[in-house]
Amino acid sequence: MYANSLIELDRAHLIHPVASYRSHEKHGVRVLASAKGATVTDASGKQLIDGFAGLWCVNAGYGHESIVEAAARQMQELPYATAYFGLGSEPAIRLASELADRAPGDLNHVYFTLGGSDAVDSTIRFIRYYWNARGRPERDQFISVEQGYHGSSTAGAGLTALPAFHAGFGLPFDWQHKIPSHYAYRNPVGDDPQAIIEASLAALKSKVEAIGPERVAAFYVEPIQGSGGVLVPPKGWVKAMREFCREHDILFVADEVITGFGRTGPLFACSEEEVVPDFITTAKGLTSGYVPMGAVFMADHVYETIAEGAGATAIGHGYTYSAHPVSAAVGLEVLKLYENGLLQNGVRAGARLMRGLQSLRDHPLVGDVRGRGMLAAVELVVDKSNKTPLPSSAEPARRIFDRAWENGLVIRAFANGVLGYAPPLCCTETEIDAIVERTRITLDETL
Ligand code: PLP
Repeated sequence: MYANSLIELDRAHLIHPVASYRSHEKHGVRVLASAKGATVTDASGKQLIDGFAGLWCVNAGYGHESIVEAAARQMQELPYATAYFGLGSEPAIRLASELADRAPGDLNHVYFTLGGSDAVDSTIRFIRYYWNARGRPERDQFISVEQGYHGSSTAGAGLTALPAFHAGFGLPFDWQHKIPSHYAYRNPVGDDPQAIIEASLAALKSKVEAIGPERVAAFYVEPIQGSGGVLVPPKGWVKAMREFCREHDILFVADEVITGFGRTGPLFACSEEEVVPDFITTAKGLTSGYVPMGAVFMADHVYETIAEGAGATAIGHGYTYSAHPVSAAVGLEVLKLYENGLLQNGVRAGARLMRGLQSLRDHPLVGDVRGRGMLAAVELVVDKSNKTPLPSSAEPARRIFDRAWENGLVIRAFANGVLGYAPPLCCTETEIDAIVERTRITLDETL
């Protein structure tokens, strides 16, 4: 009864992100009521393992008393402090410093946002400011990668290369360009790592030449493409792209909104390839989803150029809730948890998850299994021999999602037949095994 009335209220009033409003009205909302560890409980009392950590974000798992206490303490002491007018708060300053200590290379400057989309959007503004400050205003063209996701802010949605984020909006993005993804399972050059790296380098080179090398401002990558279907580039790909950008004086942005904070193992995925970008964008695992926060990491040379360029003039970029003290207090506590065992547990659990999902390769529907750490995907196909994809529509995905739900598992079922996994890093071995087992049952029922 309680849930039914909520369903009606939701239908009437709550606009859901990235949803067909009409099919949402038809199907109705599933109301989540509580959660602990890696388990969520819905309004009817049904318990499920959250194999997707909310939206790839609750890396620490649910219900950590110490996080709740850190937030409550901060709310009592100082629930809000602006970072405008030269003001600040202790948790925000400390978090910026702790993060800079751990970030790769000279990414020593941190700008806090409310999430990932505005982190990406902030980089676009900073990058424009940077090139203007360097006296190169013509460097105003941006490149990203097909299948990439960089949020849905008005400018950042253009860097996002997923059709739903463009269709129907009609916003002009003629200053944004794409190169093909490294997507190994469906790459025209095959799945040889070196061939994929060379193809991406050639594509970037010819894109830069087509735009005009003196026009290109920045290149954006995800160390692993998340929303495009968990597409893992070959080892060396990120480094090769970074080196190309360095040689051509193009700023290199690593969007680590998903891959950051232990999702693939370390705090920053690009450190696995010893890559130091000019910017890193993060969100999600930064606060483990308990409160909203994102962060832009900026390299020394970018910061200095912007600062010098502006001189005594204010750089007009800011949000009321930038460097929010409650979010920062949560971020500090979450960082402690990562370093007191969570990252290690994630590495162990991630290896078990990959082994388990790989064992599904014998299933007639499974075409590919890929991932790193606690970030993985199973790609379903109609016919393994020729990799015929599932019909690209929301309905089959919804059916698989619903079946998995009935089996006590939350996964992401993408419309192209890819199942996404990003469980909390706190998962036990039993929970990881249950994720795999429940997936197999779901696939059997889907056949
Ligand atoms: N960038 C990447 C790589 C993401 O995966 C996401 C969200 O999934 C974003 C940016 C946008 O983040 P948010 O949803 O917090 O705005």
